[in-house]
Amino acid sequence: MGRAFVYVILGGGVAAGYAALEFVRRGVSHGELCIISEESVAPYERPALSKGYLLPEAPARLPAFHTCVGTNDERLLPKWYKEHGIELVLGTRVKSTDVRRKVLITATGETISYKILIIATGARALKLEEFGVRGSDAENVCYLRNLADTNRLVDVMQNCSGGNAVVIGGGYIGMECAAALVTNRMKVTMVFPEAHCMGRLFTPKIAEYYENYYKSKGVKFIKGSVLTSFENDSEGKVKAVILKDGTCLPADMVVVGIGIRPNTGLFEDQLQLDKGGIKVNGRMQASNASVYAVGDVAAFPVKLFGNEIHRLEHVDSARKTAKHAVAAIMAPTTGDLDYLPFFYSRMFTLSWQFYGDSIGEVVHYGDFSSGNFGAYWIHKGVIVGAFLEGGSKDDYEAIAKAVRSKAIVNNIAEVERAGIEFALRVGQQAATPESGLLVERPIYTQYATAGVVVALSIAGFAYWYGRRRRIL
Ligand SMILES: Cc1cc2nc3c(=O)[nH]c(=O)nc-3n(C[C@H](O)[C@H](O)[C@H](O)COP(=O)(O)OP(=O)(O)OC[C@H]3O[C@@H](n4cnc5c(N)ncnc54)[C@H](O)[C@@H]3O)c2cc1C
Repeated sequence: MGRAFVYVILGGGVAAGYAALEFVRRGVSHGELCIISEESVAPYERPALSKGYLLPEAPARLPAFHTCVGTNDERLLPKWYKEHGIELVLGTRVKSTDVRRKVLITATGETISYKILIIATGARALKLEEFGVRGSDAENVCYLRNLADTNRLVDVMQNCSGGNAVVIGGGYIGMECAAALVTNRMKVTMVFPEAHCMGRLFTPKIAEYYENYYKSKGVKFIKGSVLTSFENDSEGKVKAVILKDGTCLPADMVVVGIGIRPNTGLFEDQLQLDKGGIKVNGRMQASNASVYAVGDVAAFPVKLFGNEIHRLEHVDSARKTAKHAVAAIMAPTTGDLDYLPFFYSRMFTLSWQFYGDSIGEVVHYGDFSSGNFGAYWIHKGVIVGAFLEGGSKDDYEAIAKAVRSKAIVNNIAEVERAGIEFALRVGQQAATPESGLLVERPIYTQYATAGVVVALSIAGFAYWYGRRRRIL
């Protein structure tokens, strides 16, 4: 007994929502598409969970942030799926798969078969137990990956208002959570093993700026150390966190953000894997031709980096890989994805964006004292990565273009001095050897067109964008 669909999306997160919209735009017929999700709500913009959802006043709640509001597109409410004949199978975990027979079996024993499968299972939060620390199941220890986690975190925080929160992990989840906890008047200590926060991306100089900002808000940092155990009260609640050097930190709540692991378990012996994810080609197609993988779980070739395989854990990648997979499925002539890796974060009133890859030599620029600064990563004489805090929309577009066009750096000192101007010139100025700037290929026509479209969109977009920034 079971159901059969032409297309099945396994997973109901960000990528699933964007894929569904693309399927509809490309004319999927009623009854052809099914989405199966362990979560009990329709796809939503996950980044909102550590931002708008945790605001002390007027916090974001569903249905406000269902996909695809994160890109100023349609908000897909459950009734949208119904109206378009898409079967939304919620609160349902798939427990086994057989890609040769093209079937999925749910935890309740139902068999769902497909002609084409899109794997969009995302990732799960790593647990302390995986690092040999016990006690994650205490009621005041929180993780942050899905809506249920976040509701729990909000409850715990409200029950110990004004108390001590210990945040384990210095990545973006830890940083965004720490900011939210402070905004909710908690006393926050961050603990992580690295020498500085956001160790995988930030340079020591960039990290110093954010850490100082956090300190000015009352956050304490304990760096180069790890949690080894918890001290619990008679009811089993954590009352202190014990660190490797014996330090004992009083804790009314603990938030753990120590990384994620892609959900590949259902496919490990059936599909090729790479970089911890499911290996796909530029059309997001896995080693079995009827299977595609998108979002956090997909390891795909990034053209910009010479088709090197990357697995990205960023929302923009989830959205774009999902749309591309659907395009490839519905229009067989679709070529390979040409993706520019992009990641952003927001905490307190700070906001940064990063494009590309963080390899090579770093050049910092701007004014670190006023909060308007950035960095370029230069590898083999071209810009491969760019970071900017506190930029305008034009500035962010400019650094994206500088990375996308692999702007050639003739003179590092000139790039450092010019700062954001260097990127702004990429799209505006004819390349001349004297300018210290060259671009790898002619990009002006396409950017001029994009510039006009962007300019026309800005006015209508401005009001909505201001509201959305608080949520996502
Ligand atoms: C709190 C938070 C804040 C974030 N903020 C940012 C940010 O500021 N900037 C940024 O670039 N990125 C951010 N991200 C990352 C971004 O949200 C992810 O990259 C994105 O959600 C990945 O989308 P996805 O569809 O691949 O996976 P997900 O959105 O995780 O969706 C996966 C879905 O699959 C379901 N699933 C998994 N296994 C099964 C199964 N066996 N059966 C049924 N269903 C299953 C899950 O329940 C889930 O619904 C954030 C992530 C989190 C958690």
